[in-house]
Amino acid sequence: MNALVENWHPDIPQDSHIELSVVVPLYNEHEVITLMYQRLTTVLTELAITYELVLVDDGSRDGTPNAISHLARQDPNITAVFLSRNFGKEAALTAGIEHAAGAAVVIIDADLQDPPELIPQMLDAWRNGADVVCMRRRSRAGETWLKRASAHHFYRLLNTISDVEIPADTGDFRLLSRKAVYALQQLNERNRYMKGLFAWIGLPTTVIEYDRMPRAAGITKWDYLGLLNLAFQGITSFSTAPLRFVMGSGLLTALLGVLFTLWIVTKALLLGDPVQGYPSLISMITILGGVQLLSIGLLGEYLGKTYYEAKQRPVYLVRDVLKRGKSVDNMTAYKNFSSIKKETYAPFR
Ligand code: UDP
Ligand code: MG
Repeated sequence: MNALVENWHPDIPQDSHIELSVVVPLYNEHEVITLMYQRLTTVLTELAITYELVLVDDGSRDGTPNAISHLARQDPNITAVFLSRNFGKEAALTAGIEHAAGAAVVIIDADLQDPPELIPQMLDAWRNGADVVCMRRRSRAGETWLKRASAHHFYRLLNTISDVEIPADTGDFRLLSRKAVYALQQLNERNRYMKGLFAWIGLPTTVIEYDRMPRAAGITKWDYLGLLNLAFQGITSFSTAPLRFVMGSGLLTALLGVLFTLWIVTKALLLGDPVQGYPSLISMITILGGVQLLSIGLLGEYLGKTYYEAKQRPVYLVRDVLKRGKSVDNMTAYKNFSSIKKETYAPFR
């Protein structure tokens, strides 16, 4: 195992003989799970390393939990984490990473859009000293023109205004060293825009390009509204630039207002003041009213974020964990709740 990883933290998980953990978030992925499992295990067994497969069921409503339990009882390399409900991909990833024991952790989508065959290449980069191996999409087969274009422009915008450099065209497909995992666990915010968090921690990063495949089976869990929401979350989680923009435009509007007033008053003094100007008055009121409401809404967005952070709720709740085919004693895990790891176990029965 990587000596650096071994020495870095006194708190190395007990299972640290595991060299690689592969974290897979699953939400209603019944159609693809068997294929995904087969392709991943083929790659992993060929590598001849100790590995574990962390399958996180994000409150699926189809046959996914059953399929995961079935696999976990057959294959001792599987750690199955069942969340108490659907918490969303970002929370599912957090759960997976926190339950992973490997010296290196690979995050991969269940739908095989990220080819598992690239894992050996990622491991090589890690062995050569990278703490983060970031996979950049050279192409995105099977995605609509609109999705590709909007993703492209979103990353450009985000990078221009955000506090950290979030590499363009990268997804959640990546490898994290144990050091990077510990770093990530210190970021205990509830609003988890993972791509931003990954970028925030820094550390030596290697970028590998790959061709993104179409989904192997099943349907995407994102609609445009969901993606728009994620994009907005990304921006407001990593930048206060919108607030500054609003302040700037407020300043500009006030300045224009002063100039306009000066002009109106001068005109009234020189030419008298017949009753007119209704259209200009109305347009000013509606425009300014709109801008004000928009600004208040934006402020509210940041305030709302603070509200959620202040609640200090856990990012996710675990219903059950299967390790080596056996259910982990949840009550013990519940009592061992650590303040660093924000995982919490629901009190059962
Ligand atoms: N996913 C999840 N929880 C959710 C939505 C999605 O765990 O609430 C998982 C999903 O099962 C898949 C990955 O996140 O493994 C990516 O989802 P999807 O393929 O639908 O997104 P896309 O590739 O279209 O961006
Ligand atoms: Mg996908």
